[in-house]
Parts: sequence; C-alpha cells; structure tokens
Amino acid sequence: MQGIEFDNAFLRALPGDAETGPRLRQVHGAAWSRVDPSPVSAPRLLAHSPEMAHALGFSEADVASEEFAQVFGGNALLAGMEPFAANYGGHQFGHWAGQLGDGRAITLGELVNAAGERWELQLKGAGRTPYSRMADGRAVLRSSIREFVCSEAMHHLGVPTTRALSLVKTGEMVERDMFYDGNPRDEPGAVVCRVAPSFIRFGTFELPYSRGETDLLRTLADFCIRRDFPHLQGEGETLYADWFGEICERTAGLVAHWMRVGFVHGVLNTDNMSILGLTIDYGPYGWLEDFNPDWTPNTTDAQGRRYRFGWQPRVAQWNLSRLAQALSPLFGDAAPLQAGLDRYAEVFNATESRMQACKLGFSQWQEGEDDDLLTALRTLMVDGEVDMTLFFRSLASVDAQAPSLQGLEHAFYDPAKLEATRAAFDDWLERYAARVREDALAPERRREMMDTANPLYVPRNWLLQQAIDQAEQGDPTGVHELMDIFREPYREQPGRERFAARRPEWARSRAGCSMLSCSS
Ligand code: AMP
Ligand code: MG
Repeated sequence: MQGIEFDNAFLRALPGDAETGPRLRQVHGAAWSRVDPSPVSAPRLLAHSPEMAHALGFSEADVASEEFAQVFGGNALLAGMEPFAANYGGHQFGHWAGQLGDGRAITLGELVNAAGERWELQLKGAGRTPYSRMADGRAVLRSSIREFVCSEAMHHLGVPTTRALSLVKTGEMVERDMFYDGNPRDEPGAVVCRVAPSFIRFGTFELPYSRGETDLLRTLADFCIRRDFPHLQGEGETLYADWFGEICERTAGLVAHWMRVGFVHGVLNTDNMSILGLTIDYGPYGWLEDFNPDWTPNTTDAQGRRYRFGWQPRVAQWNLSRLAQALSPLFGDAAPLQAGLDRYAEVFNATESRMQACKLGFSQWQEGEDDDLLTALRTLMVDGEVDMTLFFRSLASVDAQAPSLQGLEHAFYDPAKLEATRAAFDDWLERYAARVREDALAPERRREMMDTANPLYVPRNWLLQQAIDQAEQGDPTGVHELMDIFREPYREQPGRERFAARRPEWARSRAGCSMLSCSS
C-alpha cells in the first residue's frame, strides 16, 4: 500500500498510560493506553466503502489485497500505525458512570491523506483493552453491519457522522445474550474500521474533571482545539469560550438533522457525543417509521424512554451542560459556558425551522403560523399512524391548487386509522395548500427543495435485518445492495420500490426490526 502516511498526534501530544496491553485497570492522568488488536483466525473483507477508501488513498487493488483484510481485521499493521485505546468517562442514562474508555475500539493511527486531511482509523470489535471491563472487546456481525451501513448512509443523507471504511468477518464466533434472558448464542464476529477526523467525546473531558485532573483537562482542551478546531484563533478564556460555543452550534445542527430524517440514536450517553458534532456509536438506533415522537428502538431504555425521538434536542442540551461542567475549571466564571448553552437553543431552533421549511416546501419559516401547521401535522401523523419518510417525500406531489390525500395514502399503516383521520387530514391539506399558494417559491423549485430535504431511502431496521440474515448465511450481497441504494437516498431509483416501502407486518414485532437491545 503505497503513500499511506500516518501522523499520530493524539498519541504524541497527550500523556499516555505507562503500562501497555489489555490488563483491566483504572488509568489516571492519561488520555490513552497502548494496546494491539487481538488477531482473528480468518479475516475476510465482506464490504467496503469505495468513497472512504478513495478519500483515504487506498486503491481498489489495495482494498482487494490479502493485506487489507489482515490489517482491517486486526492481524497486521501498516508502517506508521501505533494502536491505542482512548480513555474517557461518561454519563449513562443520566448517571455518572466513571471511567469507560474504548472497551472494544482500538485506534490504528491518524492517516493524513494527499489533500492533507486527517482521518483517524479505528477498529471496532478488535479485542480486549484496559477499558473492556467485564466484556470481550468483540462485536457481532449484525451490529457491525448496522454500524457500517448506517454511517455511510448518514453521510450520503448529509447528516454529520463518523464514517466506515471496511467490514471484515473474523471467522470466529462471539457469544451474545441478545435478549438478556439467559439464553446466549454464538454469533459470527466482525470488525468495522470506522473513520473520523476525531473520536474525542464529551466524556473525554468529563473523566479528568471528575478526578480533579485539571492539568490533563487543560492539555486535552488545548490539543482538541489545535487539532480539531484549527480555525479558532485567540487565546485563554476567549478561545475556550469560542470553542465551547462552536461545539454547541455543531451539536445543534446535528440534532436538527436527526429530527429532519427521523433518526433515533438510542443511546445518547455523554460518551457517545462527539466533540465535532458527528453521529457516533451506532448501537440500537432506529428510524421513525410510523411517526411517533415517543418512540425509541432501544429495549434497554423501554422504561423511561429517555432517548426517545422527540427528546433528543433536550437530551443533547443536557449532555452539553455536563460538558460545560467538565470544562468549568478552565473558566473564571460560568457566563461563557451559559452563553454556549443558550447558543445551542438558538441555533437548534433556527436550524430546525430552516430544515422543516425545506421539508414542507416553504421558502421561509413564518413563526407562529408555520409552527401551528407543523404541530397540527405531527399530531395527525401520530393519530393516523403515518410513515414519516413516505409522507414527507410524497408531500412534494400535492397539488396546491387542488390538494388531495390520495397521493399520500400509501404512507398510512392502518386503513381504519386512515379513515378515522381522513377528514382532519383533508382540512390540514387545505391549510397547507393555502400556505403553499401564498409562498413566492416556483412549483419546480419547491419540489426540488423538498426532494433534497426528504429522503426516500433510509436504513430502516427491517431492511438491515434482511441483509443481516443473508450475511449470516454467508451471502453479503444484501449489504452491498443497501450500500448502493443509500449512496443516493434522495433520488428515486426505479426497480427499488421495495426499499422505499412501509415496514411490513412481519417486521413489527421481530427482534432487530423495530426494537433492539444494546447487546452487540
Ligand atoms: P456503548 O453503549 O456501545 O457506547 O458502550 C459503552 C461502553 O461499553 C464503552 O466504553 C464501550 O467500549 C464498552 N463496551 C461495549 N461493548 C463492549 C464489548 N463487547 N467489549 C468491551 N467493551 C464494550
Ligand atoms: Mg460508546
């Protein structure tokens, strides 16, 4: 593999753990621990992202080589790679959890491509680290496919996200108790190589804060600003304030995108919040099918549903306030941190309005009037059991001169609910059409705008599950097909109607298709 260069800044600039290897331990005063991936018996490349490979500088011949599968399965290193696991803490489900760290993620190095872009390469499922606690450091094929496909799909949807380079089957089995009911089974193991400019999390700062390690906290903050926010100038508290403000803004934009496309992260703990405002740690995530703000796919959260779709904006703000607290030793008083949190709310509201205006086909959001229209629609969509993706996509076809529910009926799950809400939907469509007629936007322009805000293809859990079932039987072509479809989620792809369909009845209650546990 020619011309692949690494510059391992995180390792070089930050204090590390004196001990090497995976022995479980509390690691104080250090941001990382050196640990190698554990080799696997028969690594085989099942899929890769050509876009990501290209961005990193891997040729198709590189990707097809035996060495590629060896490296990205965890059996070999390229020159310049220096594997480590990062140390961080986090609040899980509202409670401080102490040291967590990369329990099954191992960074290989920071690749700097020909354009000078920095991409950290990280294997997920590559074996034990000092942070694995009671677990095995491995990942199963089903959860690896879910992370691999969805991170690339999110990228093509225009949602900030960590990326994925490769999906390697390890040739080894991993034991998981998927339902947490005392019936573990062996499942095929896999390793995903995920990629991001930075894997620093909110929890990266929370851990030294919790331990009173202010020197480490400051070193981490200075490093993160220098490497991940190089456009920020200035110094001292002003610089920290600008930095925190930008983190808040990025997080606001991220969550507005999730609300736009109907994505539910499922585990928004602070260790799963990227400092760059990327979607990170794809676990029991899901996509709204019938629109329901109270829905979460995560069975582990079924009681309180803390991470339900509609709560994501406020959960992100709560997470930002945990970060603010962690950064407080860098500030003389709390005002700049409070300003950042206020900025989050402002930017979220402004971005959400802008995006919802695009979804509905309005040139501008008219506060008050449009808010009422949207609130009314959301209530109706719940009552009518309406598929979010299909409804919004088809809304562009509504004729503002003669609005009708006809072109939207395929988005309804239950004919009885369609009939029960028909009159209310007709009224709403009249209001909506009147609003569209008032708008200065030309009809073709309106459709164009709506079609870039309302995807037709999203990684619905049951679609993924079908590809997973097939891959577990040894056939990865379903994964390849999904990757191909999600490359252009806003373009209608003739012959692929079944991928833009309502969740079928069989999928309503099947594990993996609507509800998921954290077991992965
Ligand atoms: P998650 O909810 O996936 O973000 O994981 C929370 C924490 O548990 C992180 O510190 C992970 O590294 C760790 N973890 C999750 N699964 C495993 C596993 N199979 N082996 C080791 N650590 C794990
Ligand atoms: Mg995590």
